[in-house]
Amino acid sequence: MRRFPRRHGLRTVAVLAAASVIALPAVTVAADAHPDRSAALDRAIMGGRARNVILMIGDGMGDSEITIARNYQVGAAGRLAMDTLPFTGDYTTYSVVKDSPGMPDYAPDSASTATAWSIGRKTYDGAVGVLPDGQPAPTLLELAKRAGYRTGNVTTAELQDATPAAAAAHVVHRNCKGPDSMAACPQNASENGGAGSIAEQLIKTGPDVLLGGGMQHFGQTVRGGPDQGRTVLEQAQRRGYRLVTDRAGLAAARPGEPLLGVFAPNNLAPEWQGPLPSPQNTPPTRCVPYAGRVDAEPHLTDLTDAALRLLDRGSAGSRKGFFLQIEGAAIDKADHDANPCYQVGETVAFDAAIAKVLAYQRSHPDTLVVVTADHGHTSQIVEAGSVTPGLTATLRTNEGGDLTINYATSPAGTSQQHTGTQVRIAATGPQAANVTGITDQTDLFFTVKRALGLR
Ligand code: MG
Ligand code: ZN
Repeated sequence: MRRFPRRHGLRTVAVLAAASVIALPAVTVAADAHPDRSAALDRAIMGGRARNVILMIGDGMGDSEITIARNYQVGAAGRLAMDTLPFTGDYTTYSVVKDSPGMPDYAPDSASTATAWSIGRKTYDGAVGVLPDGQPAPTLLELAKRAGYRTGNVTTAELQDATPAAAAAHVVHRNCKGPDSMAACPQNASENGGAGSIAEQLIKTGPDVLLGGGMQHFGQTVRGGPDQGRTVLEQAQRRGYRLVTDRAGLAAARPGEPLLGVFAPNNLAPEWQGPLPSPQNTPPTRCVPYAGRVDAEPHLTDLTDAALRLLDRGSAGSRKGFFLQIEGAAIDKADHDANPCYQVGETVAFDAAIAKVLAYQRSHPDTLVVVTADHGHTSQIVEAGSVTPGLTATLRTNEGGDLTINYATSPAGTSQQHTGTQVRIAATGPQAANVTGITDQTDLFFTVKRALGLR
């Protein structure tokens, strides 16, 4: 997109280039407006059933990640779409020790955390849809499908990555993504009579809409059971899935047949790139669109539009609505990489997807929308220009400020760590007020279950 003439000088062009990646509604809060919101909040409390539930998961999107993205994109006094939901609380995210499940593991991973809201029980890091003893438990998506709801699972990572996997698969280790990588899960392997790899189980569970990356695992050959000798992709097509692999195919998809959209061999491409942090900090620098992105690859907003369109129309005339999980997966991956522009770009793109979901919710107020994270992460806002014991980079924000970001939970050159902090959970729609205050990640399972009337 090159709609803006190059007449504003370099800095303005850079601002417009970054802003033109994702059009974001900025809600600036007037400093002199402090209305009494009691009546508005009272009106926003809705009990009862939801026709639809949409879970928006920002992987690794703790309060630091939200604040960094807000500062960069809409300014310190601005508000992101995710900041506008009426009910907000924090939830605890700890997992448990595998061999001693009564003991907390204070710094969880994406597998144990996604399993927590998917099945309503704590489990160990690495567990996908299974209890500490390795036994599977039904997930929200599976219960919703069983009850006649349409279902969707959308991510910017591989579809076999921990967060989307825990919505619809059950293996004892998150690495068991395809038939060729079952070393950590012998009891789940098809050739041993198990339910198969994550890729196989995603297809068997059969959500109406599966959108993300991970073609490398879908291309592997099933080693046991009725589909032995076929690739997982062939297994999907035999089960009625239409396969699309680019933005045009996604736009052409029509309701009425299950859709498998796989747009990359592994994860989808980043949205933005920029300076990498160093022990000495960096000069203030702007983020720019990621140079390696091809136009045929859909953005998370495209995936979100398609999922809403297909699930909404697909359920027209049916009393039951849909359950949809949408993950902004790479906030976490950028934090691990200590890559601030990658991180902000993914958070901004996730927020643009949230804006679309909130617009849908305004015209379908019987939809419960929950926006949350799975766990906290490493990035911290520190004094502008400072040097720290870790890595720092300084970004020049859209409002012209200098934003210095620190990464220091692992030595330079190694993957930065998750953190064990509580994270934000926000909601709107039926049952939304239940996220208020301090809850636990497992409580989200029961809120959604009650909203959809699942048993
Ligand atoms: Mg994830
Ligand atoms: Zn992670």
